[in-house]
Amino acid sequence: SHSANQIAAGEVVERPASVVKELVENALDAGAKHIDITIEGNGVPLIRVRDDGCGIAIADLPLAVIRHATSKINKIDDLDHLQTLGFRGEALPSIASVSHMEISSRPADEVAGLCLKLIGGENGEFSEVGCPVGTSVTVRNLFFNTPARLKFLKSTPTEFGLISDTIGRIALAHPDIAFSLTHPQQVVLQTSGRGDLRETIGAVLGHGIARQLIPINVQKGDWQLEGFISPPDLVRSSKQTQNFMINGRIVRSPFLGRSLEEGYHTLIPTKLHPIVVLHLHVPPSEYDVNVHPTKMDVRFRSEQALAPFISQSVYQTLIKSKP
Ligand code: ADP
Ligand code: MG
Repeated sequence: SHSANQIAAGEVVERPASVVKELVENALDAGAKHIDITIEGNGVPLIRVRDDGCGIAIADLPLAVIRHATSKINKIDDLDHLQTLGFRGEALPSIASVSHMEISSRPADEVAGLCLKLIGGENGEFSEVGCPVGTSVTVRNLFFNTPARLKFLKSTPTEFGLISDTIGRIALAHPDIAFSLTHPQQVVLQTSGRGDLRETIGAVLGHGIARQLIPINVQKGDWQLEGFISPPDLVRSSKQTQNFMINGRIVRSPFLGRSLEEGYHTLIPTKLHPIVVLHLHVPPSEYDVNVHPTKMDVRFRSEQALAPFISQSVYQTLIKSKP
């Protein structure tokens, strides 16, 4: 129902950056190769995410904004995915219930697209539109009917900063997908989608940083740690530039952060934090994920074994890279 959607919205849609995250994840799920994001102001006036993914079948478009209507259940085949089930089919209806939403979509087998407009998730109006294959979701007047949410938002630089951090992190996890972020009339972030991680890091964190990063790729049994780490003299006071992916998914993990930093501390005693983009590949049976709509916490079954693997991989890579 309408109010159930608004309550769910409180969980899923904390702020404009969480809307962006959900819409971009849907674009990724749709197999998009290009994802373009447009933001006005702090995201409240306008968020638009356009993708060249598979599109939404005409018959499915009304379903997309109904709670728990997800096309993804049949793809859920392992435990790891099952744990995300709690939030399946909630994002679009939740966002729709607290905004003016417009979804235009065209699947590859249609000659025209279909547009659905909603106000607070209601009064749906359909129209035919000309559009390329893929989906474009526009969210205007976010939180127009939930003034408490609106009041809780921070300044435009803060909210936009969170949005661009979100997109940066997602872009780093997907070097094979081209992202652009436009705010308001200017492209402020753009990745090529050519699949080169160092180039993507350059686009997101700056080419000066990307040039100095040291590649890491260590394998032990069925564990693999790969990506880029900064030299010990390229450190930051915040952990903001530490990016961890487990089996391709972005995670938050203080444990990974600590293990990583132990590798650095052996070389140089510092309270500062290295810049890293690290992909960890481990069998899904070795960790649990605790999914919250705005973050993903991970807990490993055997931290005692994994910690030295990570710190030693980092330490040895740093030693070898010394000029
Ligand atoms: P979920 O992603 O958990 O399935 P959502 O509420 O985010 O739930 O989306 C509902 C459904 O709408 C999806 O299952 C999918 O079928 C469809 N959908 C949403 N966004 C897109 C998109 N960008 N491209 C294709 N289909 C989409
Ligand atoms: Mg979704």
